[in-house]
Formats: sequence, structure tokens, C-alpha cells
Amino acid sequence: MLSYQHAYHAGNFADVHKHLVLYAVVEHLLRKESAVTYIDTHAGRGLYPLASGEASKLQEHRDGVGRLWQARQRLAGEPLLENWLAALARVQRGRALDHYPGSPWWLSQGLRAQDRLRLFELHPGEHGHLAEQALPANVRRVHGDGLAGLLQGLPVSTPRLCVLIDPSYERKAEYSEVAETVLKTMRKSRHAQVLVWYPLLPAGRHQALLDGLRDHGLRKVWRSELTLGGPGEGHGMYGSGMLVVNPPWGLEARLADTMAALTPLLGDACRHRGDWWVPE
Ligand code: SAM
Repeated sequence: MLSYQHAYHAGNFADVHKHLVLYAVVEHLLRKESAVTYIDTHAGRGLYPLASGEASKLQEHRDGVGRLWQARQRLAGEPLLENWLAALARVQRGRALDHYPGSPWWLSQGLRAQDRLRLFELHPGEHGHLAEQALPANVRRVHGDGLAGLLQGLPVSTPRLCVLIDPSYERKAEYSEVAETVLKTMRKSRHAQVLVWYPLLPAGRHQALLDGLRDHGLRKVWRSELTLGGPGEGHGMYGSGMLVVNPPWGLEARLADTMAALTPLLGDACRHRGDWWVPE
């Protein structure tokens, strides 16, 4: 059962949160010359035209990336947002915000000759769109299961590894499957930096993922959660969560400044919390 299509949600507040954290980690990795393998286990299409039928249907981007784009001149002094918005501007065809890039693009925009990027996508239609994207030669696209593909490819041949796990959580079991995959990844690649996105929904199922990691002894797990309200205020997603295993030094302070500038744009009830889910 694969019915989720990210095109309906591209550029919403959760994408902004996820891709800002991802961008901050990639920027940090690029400070050193040594090669990085990036693995994106749930890639999606890669690039989303905002005028498409899917994106226009819910218009979620308007209350997400649209708000940042409109405020971009005011945000210019905040280093991470300024760089992120400059990268976003490079993907636009015109002067207006007409495209929103997905994780394959955010990962490939910083890719150097020595780096590698593997993209996994299981949905045949979504993989078809991804296959059409113009991406650098050191990007490999795989039509297959991302969690199994990640584990099969470990250890990687480069000195550093950065993984993004961003499922659609259509199945309840995905929360525990993700936890198991992260634990196995860290056993095989101790120094990997692993980012995991999860939705904050009233059912609170993300707790199984968080507890699964902590209860099995994983250390150094940093958590960032951006919320638009509380769990009791409706049935939909009220927040976006990101875990970063082995976060780069300084990420916490960097994101605190970024989120302080970002949250007022996303509404009066918008809050960010960044803390150690499991410390060192
Ligand atoms: N990471 C993307 C981004 O940030 O732009 C969005 C990914 S979207 C939330 C989840 C994607 O995972 C969907 O395109 C879905 O088809 C795909 N998917 C679902 N199960 C999968 C699996 N087991 N392996 C790989 N891809 C899968």
C-alpha cells in the first residue's frame, strides 16, 4: 500500500523545518574536505512545481515556505535562513516562488566530486518523476525499499556518512522499523550522522520511535520539534520532529537562532524546542 504523494504537501511547515535542519548538517559537513556518502532512504520526486494540480490542491506551501519567501529580505541577517533562502532562489525559474525542492535537491546542491548520494524511492510513479530530474553524475537513484537498501550498502567507502530517513508513516509499524534500522546503522557505522523526520500527530505514535532508540542504548540523539499548536487541537499533524544522531558541533545554537526568527512567521502558536533526547 503506497498511496502517499509528497507533492500535495511540498513546502509546508514540516518540509521547511526538515530541510533547514538537513541544510544545517550538510553545511557543517562541507567544512571538511573528506568525502561524504549521503543516503536518502525516502526520496520522493526531488522537485515540486507549485503550480501543479497536486500542490495547488491543498496549497500547504503558502503557510510554510511561502511565508519565508515573502519575508526573505527581513530574514537576511540570520545566517542559516539567508543561505537556505539563497539556495531556494537558485531553483526558481522566475522571480516568484514557483518550485519547492525536495530532499534529493537539498542534498545534491552541496555535492562535491568526492561525495556520493544514493536516493531510494519505492513508489513507481514517484520514482519515475525522480528519474527525470537533472542531478549530478555522482547521484545514484534506486527504485526500491530505502531501509533495506541503506543497511545493504553499509559500511560505505567514504570516511563520512550522512543519512536522511523521511518516511510517510502510512503504516503504524514504520515507527519501530525506523528505530530498528537506525540502531543497525549505528552498529555498522558508529560515526554516521543520521537524521530522522517524524510527524507529531494526536495519536502520539512517534513515541515508539523515540523510546525504541533510547531503550536500546543509542547515545547522542538530538531532537528538534516545531509545533503549530497542541495535540488536543484537531486531528491533523500539529508538529514536525527531527532527530539527529551524532549532531555536528554547534547545531543546537545555530538552530535556536534560526527557529527564533522563523517561528513568528508561522503563527502566534508556533513554538520550537531543541534538546537532547539522549545525551552523550
Ligand atoms: N524526503 C522527501 C523530501 O524531503 O522531499 C519526501 C519523502 S515523502 C515524506 C516519503 C516518500 O517515501 C514517498 O515518496 C513514498 O513513496 C516513499 N516511500 C514509502 N515507503 C518507502 C520505502 N519503503 N522505501 C523507499 N521509499 C518509500
